Amino acid sequence: MTNILKVKNLNIGFDLSDGFRQAIYDVSFNLQKGETLAIVGESGCGKTISTMSILQLLPETARVKSGEIFYNGQNLLSFNQKQMQKIRGKKIALIPQDPMTSLNPLYTIGNQLLEIIELHQGVKGKEAFDIAVKALERVKIPDATEKMKAYPHEFSGGMKQRVIIAMALACNAEIIIADEPTTALDVTVQAQIMDILKEIKEKYNISLILITHDLGVVAQNADKIAVMYAGRIVEYASNKELFNNPKHPYTKALLNVILDINTETVQTIEGHPPSITDDISGCPFHPRCKDCMDICLSNIPKSRCPDNSQVACHLYN
Ligand code: SF4
Repeated sequence: MTNILKVKNLNIGFDLSDGFRQAIYDVSFNLQKGETLAIVGESGCGKTISTMSILQLLPETARVKSGEIFYNGQNLLSFNQKQMQKIRGKKIALIPQDPMTSLNPLYTIGNQLLEIIELHQGVKGKEAFDIAVKALERVKIPDATEKMKAYPHEFSGGMKQRVIIAMALACNAEIIIADEPTTALDVTVQAQIMDILKEIKEKYNISLILITHDLGVVAQNADKIAVMYAGRIVEYASNKELFNNPKHPYTKALLNVILDINTETVQTIEGHPPSITDDISGCPFHPRCKDCMDICLSNIPKSRCPDNSQVACHLYN
């Protein structure tokens, strides 16, 4: 299968008052057509920064130090803002945690859909209206024609997320980046949104990057998984491999958290992930790792490929 997206050795950091601080280290992953890649890890591990760089939507103080991001063979990091405008929303769409960051409260749902259809598809009038209604129907919004007249505040959180997904569909996006798309929603609505994403992905062969800390969602939806810790991908494997045969101690610890939730004894991983201002030598997970060895205190583990995974841990040297 062809890679629609290829992220290669991405290094990103922040310009802080005391100088440049690296936040993302040598992150690489591929995304194939119709595939779901989940990027998982605790808050602050770098999953959002890594993916926002694909759309050149990094915070002002952040900058890409090195790396390449190929979308259909073109390096997006060499694109200027005008070129990126043709990619954002049209080719690669973003579904944020809070849909109100993408919806304008002052305009109706219909106006906002029509605007992006006109901008990205170059069609107007009835043709654009029909595309908009069809997109709302595809995400199972009832009375879609009527709902075109509604304002965002008339919609629940789950319905607003459906509108954002409809916007991506209306523009025939090839890749959807969903950044914790269900975190702000209750459990039933979360399941509905994930079902819609899964359905449109399969029906329209869309590729999905799912950023989440919820391994339950990952287990049910991802084809492959990148586990991130302290700005690095520490394990990269297929869904089956990761859940049946996890290798990195951090992945195992994350999986234990959900296993314990299932038995109603919630356990968290002891300790905290480092912040980008911490100077840590060796493996960044060593202060929390039950398998820590002497070498881990001084040497950063390189990514290796035991069996069918890639794992960065000295246990697999
Ligand atoms: Fe643990 Fe060492 Fe592996 Fe890091 S390299 S995860 S400290 S065993």
